[in-house]
Amino acid sequence: MSLPALRAAFAALTLSLSTMLNPVLAGDVVDTHSYANSAEVRTSHLALDFEVDFAKSRLKGLAEIQFQRLKPDADRIVLDTRALDVRSAEASSDGKTWTATKFALGSDDAVLGRPLTVMLPAAATRVRIGYFTRPEASGLQWLKPAQTAGKKRPFLFSQSQAIHARSWIPLQDSPAVRATYEARVKTPKGLRAVMSAEMSEQRDAAGRWTFRMPQPIPSYLIAIAVGDIAFQSLGARTGVYAEPAMLKAAAWEFAETETTVALCEKLFGPYRWGRYDLLVLPPSFPYGGMENPRLTFLTPTVITGDRGLVALIAHELAHSWSGNLVTNATWEDFWLNEGFTEYLTYRLTEAQFGTARGDMERVIGVADLKTDLGLAKSDEDRKLVRAYPSKDPDEVFSTIPYQRGALFLVYLETKFGREAFDAFLRGWFDAHAFQSATSPQFLAFLDEKLLKAKPGVVSQAEIDAWVSSPTLPADAVYASSDALAKVEAARDAWLAGKTPISAMAAGHWTVQEWEHFFEGFPTTASAAQLKELDAAFKLTGNGNAIIASHWYRLAIKAGQTDSVLPAMTEYLARVGRMKLISPIYRALAATDAGRAQANAIYKKLGPGYHPIAQQALERILAGS
Ligand SMILES: [Zn+2]
Repeated sequence: MSLPALRAAFAALTLSLSTMLNPVLAGDVVDTHSYANSAEVRTSHLALDFEVDFAKSRLKGLAEIQFQRLKPDADRIVLDTRALDVRSAEASSDGKTWTATKFALGSDDAVLGRPLTVMLPAAATRVRIGYFTRPEASGLQWLKPAQTAGKKRPFLFSQSQAIHARSWIPLQDSPAVRATYEARVKTPKGLRAVMSAEMSEQRDAAGRWTFRMPQPIPSYLIAIAVGDIAFQSLGARTGVYAEPAMLKAAAWEFAETETTVALCEKLFGPYRWGRYDLLVLPPSFPYGGMENPRLTFLTPTVITGDRGLVALIAHELAHSWSGNLVTNATWEDFWLNEGFTEYLTYRLTEAQFGTARGDMERVIGVADLKTDLGLAKSDEDRKLVRAYPSKDPDEVFSTIPYQRGALFLVYLETKFGREAFDAFLRGWFDAHAFQSATSPQFLAFLDEKLLKAKPGVVSQAEIDAWVSSPTLPADAVYASSDALAKVEAARDAWLAGKTPISAMAAGHWTVQEWEHFFEGFPTTASAAQLKELDAAFKLTGNGNAIIASHWYRLAIKAGQTDSVLPAMTEYLARVGRMKLISPIYRALAATDAGRAQANAIYKKLGPGYHPIAQQALERILAGS
């Protein structure tokens, strides 16, 4: 499809969906994953008040929503909610005098939750909603002391992306809507609250932690964590928050963060968020990292003791440009966040650790992409830009928008040259800073600034193939890695019986080399070979969570589940990062006997996983 045809298709889609689902209509942006009427009444600022109740696993919340009336006679604001107990709604014209106003919750949808409609008096400029969250809130995880590193105090953290902010705040939960926010959080004694905002070091006179986010951000970047949290500075504007038991190891692992921020600025322009801090979460955090502004949330599985996985920091930091500064306007435009960020990460890794390391990451990224292209359920899921929206953004989550998006940008860089492409990228960030953008907007910008400005380099048909074909274009530019080629050669020589296992220099391998070693491991290896491998490198029970995950998958696929079962079960009980545990469950579920084992394990461990991980694992076990 050509660009004009693509735009026409989007326009037609906009029209049909807007009449069908009543989604967000902001400018010409349609967000089918939100009920909010943000084209009529648009949130500009949030003032949040929370009381954290660990005994009842709930937040008592008061959310004040300041808004602009884009449609002057609009008489209501529609908010997104999921599993919230709404107690009251009030309206005000000055923020001082509040009067009760009518509100109604609509019917419940399994993916979207319930719309909350609040009636607006003519002069109102803000409403405030009193409510409680429920223990099952999909965006919050309440951890018992046993699930933390310190084992003594409970812990709470949020994960709002993609559409989970609505499970702890009633708000216009669309990435097309940006607002500033402030918050006050009352915690039990001895526990600290942190949020994705400027933070006060002390509690206020009423004993609350206070926060302020002066830049407008989309709702999915609002984040909170509460626990026994300590802080260590890493540099002038960087530092790390973690449970005291984790703090020293975390500070060592992430010691180079200040340097990475400076390098990032050199490549992509100024860092516009003030501080950049990291928060290390307990192991049940379902993702590698979450780019909450000013405060990246991180899995502890990246603390490997050798700084081998700090590329994850580069990824989350790069989101300060792609994602947080320029945001995907809908979840169909997710590649604008993740494909760009993955590309920036490669560039940053290359600049910080050399081309060989950058290429290694790229080769592994493409291997992940090919795996996920194989696993995708439909051609629609394989495209960079879907022709129609997915029902649930979590359900179509894969590495495709990340790696296919990055490959697209590598292709453009190769065609136009690094200098021209870098200028184009910075131009995109500058022109759309603190705005949300759609794929058609990006493609129009690309058309104007590169395709038309430098005619004859890339055709519209070539762009279309990248964007809307389910297969990868034949002229994709792939990296190669000498180090990984050596790993492959050593592995294959050993498997063929040509060299002893001692000839593999695996003692010096990076995690990336180990990943590659496992990615291409043939299913034909014998039980004796797997046993020899395990004995040589102590893979069962390995302390590196990434190596361990790959090893358990390999053992399962080779029919050796029983030999790793106790250590693997302990691992599945401890780690909650979906990228590491989902493939283990998926490998188990590939056979009838394995599926029974997976179900038995999940029955026991399921309640300890994050709600988002629970949903993903239940989909795998149901075979969907
Ligand atoms: Zn990301």
